[in-house]
Amino acid sequence: MFVGLLLVSQWLQTFFMQLTEAVQRLGTETAFKVLAKAKQMAAEGRSIVHLEIGQPDFPTPANICEAGKRAIDEGYTSYGPTCGLPEVRECIAQHISKTRSIEVNPSQVVVTPGGKPIMFFTILSVVEPGDEVVYPDPGFPIYKSLIDYIGGKGVPLPLLEENDFSFDLEKLKELVSDKTKLLILNSPQNPTGGVLKKSDLEAIAALCVKHDVLILADEIYSELIYEGTFESVTQFPGVSERTVILDGFSKTYSMTGWRLGYGIFPQWMVESIERLMVNSNSCTASFSQRAGIEALTGQQESVSEMREAFRNRRDFIVKGLNQIPGISCRTPRGAFYVFANVSQLPISSGELETRLLEEAGVACLAGGGFGEQGENFLRFSYANSIENIGEALKRIETFLGKLQVP
Ligand code: PLP
Repeated sequence: MFVGLLLVSQWLQTFFMQLTEAVQRLGTETAFKVLAKAKQMAAEGRSIVHLEIGQPDFPTPANICEAGKRAIDEGYTSYGPTCGLPEVRECIAQHISKTRSIEVNPSQVVVTPGGKPIMFFTILSVVEPGDEVVYPDPGFPIYKSLIDYIGGKGVPLPLLEENDFSFDLEKLKELVSDKTKLLILNSPQNPTGGVLKKSDLEAIAALCVKHDVLILADEIYSELIYEGTFESVTQFPGVSERTVILDGFSKTYSMTGWRLGYGIFPQWMVESIERLMVNSNSCTASFSQRAGIEALTGQQESVSEMREAFRNRRDFIVKGLNQIPGISCRTPRGAFYVFANVSQLPISSGELETRLLEEAGVACLAGGGFGEQGENFLRFSYANSIENIGEALKRIETFLGKLQVP
């Protein structure tokens, strides 16, 4: 009986119920896959150190939680306006105007459930099948996934370890042309922790103005910089009107589960983004948005404290990894990731991801999940305690010490 049903279901899938080609082109974020496997192993009693997911391990600051609870008590539990509560759009516009030194009107702000939908909505709005999109490699895997989904032509911009994970300017000039529709920037960067220099941003700005290219500036890690100050590409002439800024609350305020992010759009895009929002989410949770006001306008000491803790962990993990034979890594200047070069080890980074989890109980990510240029790297998220990072380093060293070279 069961076998019969299975056969009928397979037959239906083959002849009628096919998934679309587009949806089959969607990629994924391996962080969520490895996290699920690591959690399953932990539930079965294994000791796992989590260095895979990009999620601060700190609780959401108490003042923000209180504001969220108060909002629920005050009745912010129903649908709100599609683009966000007016007071929240106003507050975000003020915040971005201040931090990027540009003028942002609240009507340009669209509040979304996390920052991720801004990628989807931007690409859906401006990229036609066959259009070229320049994106960072290694980079956040969802960019490439969405370009492929739309049928766009992804043009990877290599970020090089020897350049502290910035790009080669001549290469950038070769890749950006009148055929380029969109250029995706992410600084501070996932997965490398690299931060683009002001001069690099200036070069990008000039090219995008020259070739009439829209920029998607993913600035979700803008508050997590350990040296110098954050620089946005929007500071250069003629750029803010051709840039979508993606930012949000997940990383800065440790609010990953509140699903609260936003985009700042050129005015001509807002109506399309509103349509996409109404077709997909209707609106973002009203009480999360109210908590967002407290996040932006309340005390900022928690942000500085988290940043300092991340800085200490960064220094600790970089030193520790560099002491392990066969592993080397640069000191990242932002976000909370290190991208360690494992090309000297006798097994691939993909096999290391699997075996470190299964045999050593250390969850981390193979760099290949972030693009071709990441093949010889492992990404470690140091959003974990010094104690746990220390334990992971010991486990990695012991595992590699016992590794049988074929
Ligand atoms: N952009 C980058 C580069 C990220 O690393 C992430 C999350 O990991 C996001 C955007 C999306 O964050 P969220 O949707 O949780 O706000």
